[in-house]
Amino acid sequence: ATPTALLVGTGRGAQLGILIKGPEVLESTRRIDTVVLDKTGTVTTGRMTLLETVPAAGESADDVLRMTGAVEHASEHPIARAVARSAAEAGALPQAHDFENLEGRGVRATVDGELVAVGRPGWVADELGALPAELTDAIDAAHEAGRTAVVAAWDGRARGVLVIGDTVKDTSAEAVRLFKRLGLTPVLLTGDNQRAAEQIAAQVGIDRVVAEVLPADKVDVVTSLRAEGKVVAMVGDGVNDAAALAAADLGMAMGTGTDVAIEASEITLVRGDLRAAADAVALSRRTLRTIK
Ligand code: ADP
Ligand code: MG
Repeated sequence: ATPTALLVGTGRGAQLGILIKGPEVLESTRRIDTVVLDKTGTVTTGRMTLLETVPAAGESADDVLRMTGAVEHASEHPIARAVARSAAEAGALPQAHDFENLEGRGVRATVDGELVAVGRPGWVADELGALPAELTDAIDAAHEAGRTAVVAAWDGRARGVLVIGDTVKDTSAEAVRLFKRLGLTPVLLTGDNQRAAEQIAAQVGIDRVVAEVLPADKVDVVTSLRAEGKVVAMVGDGVNDAAALAAADLGMAMGTGTDVAIEASEITLVRGDLRAAADAVALSRRTLRTIK
């Protein structure tokens, strides 16, 4: 029979905005020593905005925004939403055809007869060769500021850089302090650039960063931490995070996130407040202490 205390524990969790799939989940929660945190939408709000469009020499910022906006209009990615919104505000967007999404790298489509690619700077450089200095300067500056930079290219040339900003949730730094107080090691995990990720990590007090991870490889990060003997909780919100959430000793999904992430997890943090992840660990320890 299920000990009454576990039921009381899950009930108490519900009051704290922590939905626990079954009373037995508290047992694995208690043993967690490492918390892997997705960056976008988990540590940050995930509500991105386009901050700047930097054209390559001889290009116009308006053109870069218009072509990029047309492609991103077809994508659901938070980066795409930010770009498409700004581009649509600036003027009507041409129709994009043959849209393609390249997971963790970027997107491609045909606009005005040109095959336009928008995505991770490293991916565009792999396809086209070194980017012009004015663009690498803009990318470096964006990363140093903890921002995301994507490159737009067509007809074999990089045409511009779009700088996108996200905001750290005002509860994230306190959540990290709570994790550390509970003896847990927080790790930031993201597909975003290493420098940008380190900048966000520094803002909230996380010392370990694993960045530039393709969506399909997030699960490997969790699996290798477990192979090192760590007992791992993964906190995430995206479709991207589902496999990692399922592979962790404990998956915790942001209630503000995707259904796929919630279904893959044992715990849902209803309000999308990272402090509730620390509350869950504290609650499980208290609850199981009362049983023993
Ligand atoms: P995260 O782990 O932060 O959610 P993703 O794995 O979704 O990031 O994306 C990693 C990187 O791939 C982004 O930082 C961006 O450079 C590029 N990227 C992905 N999708 C798009 C898109 N629709 N438009 C532009 N760039 C994209
Ligand atoms: Mg995310």
